[in-house]
Amino acid sequence: MDYTILADTYEELESVSAKLKKTDILAELLRKTSVDELPKVVLLIQGIVFPKFTGLELGIATQMMIKAISKATGFKPRDVEDKFKETGDLGLAAEECIKSKKQVTLLKKKLTVDFVFKNLQQLAFVTGEGSQERKLNLIAELLVSSKPKEARYVVRAILGELRVGVAEGIIRDAIVNAFLFKDGMSKEEKAKLTEAVDYAWNIVSDFGEVAKIASEKGVEGLRKVKVQLGRPIQVMLGEKAESIEQVIKDFGKIAAEYKYDGARIQCQKQGDKVWLFTRREEDVTKQFPELVEFCRKGLKASECIVEGEALAINPKTGSPLPFQILSQRIHRKYDIEKMVKEIPIQMHLFDIVYLEGKTLFDKPFKERRKILEKIVKVIQGKFGLAKQLVTDDVKAVEKFYKEALDAKQEGIFLKVLDSKYVFGRHVGGWMKIKPIMETLDLVIVGATWGEGARAKWITSYVLACRDPDTGKFLPCGMMSTGLTEAEYGSMTETLKPLIVEEKGKNVKVKPKIVIEVAYQEIQKSPNYESGFALRFPRFQKIRFEKGPEDADTIQRVEELFKSQGIRG
Ligand code: AMP
Repeated sequence: MDYTILADTYEELESVSAKLKKTDILAELLRKTSVDELPKVVLLIQGIVFPKFTGLELGIATQMMIKAISKATGFKPRDVEDKFKETGDLGLAAEECIKSKKQVTLLKKKLTVDFVFKNLQQLAFVTGEGSQERKLNLIAELLVSSKPKEARYVVRAILGELRVGVAEGIIRDAIVNAFLFKDGMSKEEKAKLTEAVDYAWNIVSDFGEVAKIASEKGVEGLRKVKVQLGRPIQVMLGEKAESIEQVIKDFGKIAAEYKYDGARIQCQKQGDKVWLFTRREEDVTKQFPELVEFCRKGLKASECIVEGEALAINPKTGSPLPFQILSQRIHRKYDIEKMVKEIPIQMHLFDIVYLEGKTLFDKPFKERRKILEKIVKVIQGKFGLAKQLVTDDVKAVEKFYKEALDAKQEGIFLKVLDSKYVFGRHVGGWMKIKPIMETLDLVIVGATWGEGARAKWITSYVLACRDPDTGKFLPCGMMSTGLTEAEYGSMTETLKPLIVEEKGKNVKVKPKIVIEVAYQEIQKSPNYESGFALRFPRFQKIRFEKGPEDADTIQRVEELFKSQGIRG
């Protein structure tokens, strides 16, 4: 397939915002794609060339891209950079450069989907001496052969900034429309087709492959997809519950479990081989060699997939440490053995979804737990089952909840005993009970301009609390979520006149604007002047009625931190 077809589709997708319209455009593209090219096209449409779980990245930074555009077009890097500054989008800068290209080259090839895909994939594998030069050549080779519009999307794809607004739901619906839906089918029939695509995606974790199966084998093929050990499957998540009392009223006897403050890890075992994946499909097998050993010794099955929460443990006292400490291990690439000693972990298993060739999704939770209990050989203090209490006694669950918080955990999960394993969040499966965090009113003291399509806006904000003794504002977090596009726009207009210093994309602003911020929790942090950091801060609203002198104080932050009762 000609890459032009893809570039035209990207442009079309970019130009519409309605979900249905995007789905139609994408379904049309899928219909005219050959079966062999489907996996590639579906990945490219998401702006990637490897499924997420592979962890492979192209690793091309802005500066290298500027060099590559310069090399392919004859423009000086500075000129490319100027064009980049004008538009905030290197894709558009490349397009401009190609339009008025100074170099005529004889090396032009036809730009096909295959050619782009191959060169992009190769970028991820170029390492060692001379790798910069080889990467430059791979990119330049594509740009030399690109028409202006094609260059726009090649560059954006390489930088991981495609942003044509195709979310998973749209890809799923487009696959249904392109290969499964027939005129005259009812809504219910269509819902079943969507369910089948969803199921296959949850197991295969790659829409490229799902599209190919749908096109070749139809809905039956999708329903029969097999678990492939070594590849993560998607996970079940929880909903927030109203109260312990309400859950017990609705469901009667339930299983309460600690909600551990660690990282979810999916452990897959096949003979002696073990793979570990995070909830976001990252392969962390290398980062946790001790857990690999625990799985080898502690899972009495030749093939299985179990899930649990890995918790960091203080090696001296044996007491649990917060997620923040454990997170240092998740992306660690070197000194792994040292980390194993410094931040040991403890695994708390809570589910099993696959055993000896069979999936267990349809079995009720209580049965899955029994199976799990049977196959797990506890390794004291290291590898065991999540603490559980099965009861319909509200008082007993409340006591259990307090125990969990006293044990420095996040709260509890209430799990419906008869619930199947359902991918994603859904009602009536797992419900979480956590302490409600109060919001904070904080002052914006700094900010960062956005990138790509968001370059026109200030999109992240440095939040600070007030020190009433010195009158200083002490940063305690960086927030970039919770705003609508319109809010980014008005926030930018509000902050622009307050900018006092600008360094690259970072600006300092006069402490004037107070916003209400929600967050998951407060942690101690040496990175911020206040000594605290908000975890997952979310914008609620601007408190126009408040001035900086009304903002919450450092003492308030500290009080809230202590009242969480779960940090030491
Ligand atoms: P949340 O991120 O608040 O939606 O909570 C879901 C996460 O809680 C899961 O992905 C797990 O990482 C974590 N978790 C901790 N303890 C448990 C448990 N006993 N059962 C299920 N998930 C748990």
